[in-house]
Amino acid sequence: MTTIPRTKLPTLNMVHTNTHHPSDLSSLSLKQIMETPRYQQYLAAIQNIGKTELHAHLAGAVPLEFLQKNCDETTFSQLSHDIDKIRNGVDYDKAFSIFDTIGKILNTEQRIEEAAFEFCRAQYNDKVAFSELRTGLKNLGTGFEGYLQAVLKGLERGMQTYPIQVNLLLSLRRNTTEADADKTIDLALKYRDKGITGIDVSGNSVCGDAKGIFTALQRAKELKFPVTLHIGENPKETPEQQMKELKTIQPQRIGHGVFLCPEAIEWVRSQHIPVEVCIKSALSVDMIDHASKHPWLKLLQEGHPLVFCTDDATLFGDLSSELALLACLKDLSLSEIIELQSQAHQYAFKH
Ligand SMILES: [Zn+2]
Repeated sequence: MTTIPRTKLPTLNMVHTNTHHPSDLSSLSLKQIMETPRYQQYLAAIQNIGKTELHAHLAGAVPLEFLQKNCDETTFSQLSHDIDKIRNGVDYDKAFSIFDTIGKILNTEQRIEEAAFEFCRAQYNDKVAFSELRTGLKNLGTGFEGYLQAVLKGLERGMQTYPIQVNLLLSLRRNTTEADADKTIDLALKYRDKGITGIDVSGNSVCGDAKGIFTALQRAKELKFPVTLHIGENPKETPEQQMKELKTIQPQRIGHGVFLCPEAIEWVRSQHIPVEVCIKSALSVDMIDHASKHPWLKLLQEGHPLVFCTDDATLFGDLSSELALLACLKDLSLSEIIELQSQAHQYAFKH
């Protein structure tokens, strides 16, 4: 396990005058942190380095302008209103309603293909050279396969247009039916050589008990598809459910992990399971009440594998802004951010 070297290289010329030192950042809101010259300096530097994104959902990572172009004024004003609400902090359960609105816009295979292409463009614009994008399959007319082909076509076009690599994870929810979960794994296998590298379990973490997807996930693992599991997103998750999911699914990575029971934390730590940490997302949907309180931040110095990601860049901001926030919170140098990003690349799901 590589840990972050503690020696700071003078690559980032820190501005300390008239700025808030990390020690007093805990008194500042996210908005105030983002207004500090220190944050702005980090942001400018981080925007210029090649980056790796491992936690991005298609519906939450399509540029807002693209959504605006494809909906009427009423829908867009509803969407903007919802995004504002989320950026100012919203209850976890309520945050999901925005995806219903986005789903009404991304409602044809043509738009899904364009959305995947637009995702690539946004990654290129933020200098994200490698991404894992995740999406659940839907039937928008020609079944799951037509949807998947549309996503893959958009990504292929994106990768031909921009010098980036995007792999795809297929998502299941805890309440996905056994039949749909099976179909998803069948398609993952069929299109594996088109860049499908793993399976994700996401959606509201207290909707469904995951029983319908355990067998499909087991098959996915036998087929050597690694799994990443959203867990510890909602305080209503029970320790029994968390331990059952961790032990049954044996995920290669987990997403968020904010509300894990002590046994689950120990399980993740002892097995060095990489955690996808999305600070702005956790803050916006009220998993934490201050950016510095993300529980996994404490384990950065300990060397536990952490990958910092956006979750839904349309709602919470791009990867450069997530990493600039992290740098402010933990007083990291640019070289440490680069090291973290190179570790992130090691935790990506390989073909
Ligand atoms: Zn997520």
